[in-house]
Amino acid sequence: MQTANGKEHQVQRLIGSYECDQPGPTLVLIGGTHGNEPSGPEAIERVLDGLRAQPFDLRGRVVGLRGNLPALQERVRYLERDLNRNWTVDEIENLRARKPEELLVEDVQQIELLSAIEEVLSKDEGPFLFLDLHSTSGEGPPFAFLCGASPVRRLLRHFEIPIILGVEDVLQGTLMDYLTDRGHVAVGVEGGQHDAKEAVSNLEAIIWIALSEWGLIQEQELRDLSLARATLQLAVRTLPREVRVMHRHELLKDDGFQMAPGFANFDRVQGGQVLASDRGGEIASPEPGRILLPLYQGLGEEGFLLIQDVPVDEEP
Ligand SMILES: [Zn+2]
Repeated sequence: MQTANGKEHQVQRLIGSYECDQPGPTLVLIGGTHGNEPSGPEAIERVLDGLRAQPFDLRGRVVGLRGNLPALQERVRYLERDLNRNWTVDEIENLRARKPEELLVEDVQQIELLSAIEEVLSKDEGPFLFLDLHSTSGEGPPFAFLCGASPVRRLLRHFEIPIILGVEDVLQGTLMDYLTDRGHVAVGVEGGQHDAKEAVSNLEAIIWIALSEWGLIQEQELRDLSLARATLQLAVRTLPREVRVMHRHELLKDDGFQMAPGFANFDRVQGGQVLASDRGGEIASPEPGRILLPLYQGLGEEGFLLIQDVPVDEEP
């Protein structure tokens, strides 16, 4: 694939696709929206290989796409801006109206990824289910992000991983947010730390469970389903099944943000506990809760999120 500067990407947008000419939903798997998160594309490859190896009698279709091709090649989160932002109708219209020479690297990636998604939407009948696969700079178990009061909230309880609610209140313009607004089921999932091999096996387990829960493959056909569930149960242990985002620490340009060492996703924190520092001094937790996405990499827009457990009896 030729890029604007004539460089050739060694990685392709399409990871692969699998279907058996049986009607059913389309599961779109997106990996590597952030280039330093190689576990997503790897998990997608493993599942597609597994589907072909059996081979499975699949209802519908599975399509795997890579997100940020130049960043995946360079193994960096992004080159010029975060590809998982600016997914609003206005921003997209704006990008498509711009001259090619005015576009940033990630503007081009966004236009190309959106075209690949639109091609799937126009080819297949639906319904469409999207899983956007990620990993985190901090250590910790797998979890999922859900936008809005999605009807899939109840269904996701069978996924064995904590579900983060209310992300759209603190983070706008994500790809998942955009797809949810278009009426699709879209879930963001985090497999674990970027380079941990568990991140790949956790994401792979989540995809197999999605294939079964969403009816693309028969549960009895999937011999390893209990293994997939056990993998996630072992990683998640006693964590709450649903948590809500209460606070986001936004980073400002050159604010010298430095996360205090040793925080993992879901660690409990006290109100007033020092979590990080920047040029303004120490940054304390505004309230008690759990920490999510502590930033241990150079690039990012938030230093951390604070989350709180949702009581089990709160019905969606
Ligand atoms: Zn990511």
